[in-house]
Amino acid sequence: MEERSRVAPWAPPRAQRRLVELESETDGLGLNEIVRLVDAVLAEHRGRLDEDGVVLYAGTNTMSERARAAHEVSLGSRPSMGWPGDKFQTGLDELDMLEVLAPLQVAALMGGEFAEVRLQSATLANLACYTAFARPGDTIAVLPEAAGGHASHHAQGAAGIRGLRVVDLPYDADLFGIDHDALPGFLHEHRPALVVIGASLMLFPHDVARVRAACDEVGAVLVYDASHMAGLIAGGRFQRPLEEGAHLVTMSTYKSFGGPPGAAVVTRDEELARRVSAAAYPGLTANYDASRLAPLAVTAAEHAANGPAYADACVANAKALAAALAAQGFAVAAPHLGWTVSHHVAVDAAAFGGGDRAARLLAEGGVYLSGIGLPDQAPGEAMRGLRIGTQEVTRRGFTPDSMLEVAALMRGLLIDGRDPAKVLQEAVALRRSTQ
Ligand SMILES: *Cc1c(COP(=O)(O)O)cnc(C)c1O
Repeated sequence: MEERSRVAPWAPPRAQRRLVELESETDGLGLNEIVRLVDAVLAEHRGRLDEDGVVLYAGTNTMSERARAAHEVSLGSRPSMGWPGDKFQTGLDELDMLEVLAPLQVAALMGGEFAEVRLQSATLANLACYTAFARPGDTIAVLPEAAGGHASHHAQGAAGIRGLRVVDLPYDADLFGIDHDALPGFLHEHRPALVVIGASLMLFPHDVARVRAACDEVGAVLVYDASHMAGLIAGGRFQRPLEEGAHLVTMSTYKSFGGPPGAAVVTRDEELARRVSAAAYPGLTANYDASRLAPLAVTAAEHAANGPAYADACVANAKALAAALAAQGFAVAAPHLGWTVSHHVAVDAAAFGGGDRAARLLAEGGVYLSGIGLPDQAPGEAMRGLRIGTQEVTRRGFTPDSMLEVAALMRGLLIDGRDPAKVLQEAVALRRSTQ
């Protein structure tokens, strides 16, 4: 029998092999060796992804120089509980300013009035909404997983933890959007307390006003999960969910938004904000890692100062990449709809053994992204899509011309069967040429 991991003996076989291999390297290490090992890991990470990688993974980004310079890690171990002027702790007077600056900046940028910024992840931001607006046993309606509905919307994630019954919104796979004709009847039948839209793959905007009208008929609260779209929304592009009728926006602050890890919940409604705030603290956080607030405020201020330039560049790169991939022979999703109007592109990877397998091969050649379900895949079918996000490469100086080269790298790896080691050299050269 094969050796089993000590860290996670319950992990799947592929992980078992990797864990066991790593565990054997750590046996018997002393303090100095551990410090050296950690240094080596950090150096290798900076090299592989930050300096040399063509990172097209949609759920990541790189912070700006200014935001990074504002990240003072030591603040993270200073718990700050309660409001400025009324805190449990003393000696945090300077920090008070960050607790005012960050929420005001984020709220204004996203078209809201109130922002809860203490939640360390969008999963927790969604859980805060479930906690504030639904009781155990209530129903919530969310996008199907194959349409990019996130784990935190579904029963295996935060929604299940809150004890909610989860139903999938009617979805039109051909139009990559909610089935609006079926929606009102569906909501009348299921009477959800909450409707969650927004997804991990969003090629096209939602008709938020139409969803809101249907929600109003049954008294449902409408949450738009902008985890992936927050950077475009911040630039005034893609769509403006709060202006269009969403009660609340939840968002990751480190994906297209390009700030520190963490999340926000934004709304225009004081009563909704008050309930989310109580769910966040004292509900779901105590120490919330205040070190995030300074880079968050700086990132938000940069978006406000730079307007739509970054969002437009992300979208232009996505459109150029989609066109280049189609020209190279890839089955780019949604050809009849013009592929994308966001920074996301999806490719049907059935010909390459599915999205996960294709992503692993691309990584050998220095191109990093992930698989994703596609709306028209069969229930239970493994993720058939490859998901691409252009937000990080855009920040790193890639242009629509670079996208032709990215498409050629991907073709070399997936269609032409080129040697990944050779493609890796070209990927690194492309990445280094942009900075
Ligand atoms: C990434 C993502 C989340 C979770 O964000 P974390 O900050 O990783 O918890 C939630 N919702 C959607 C739609 C996402 O894509």
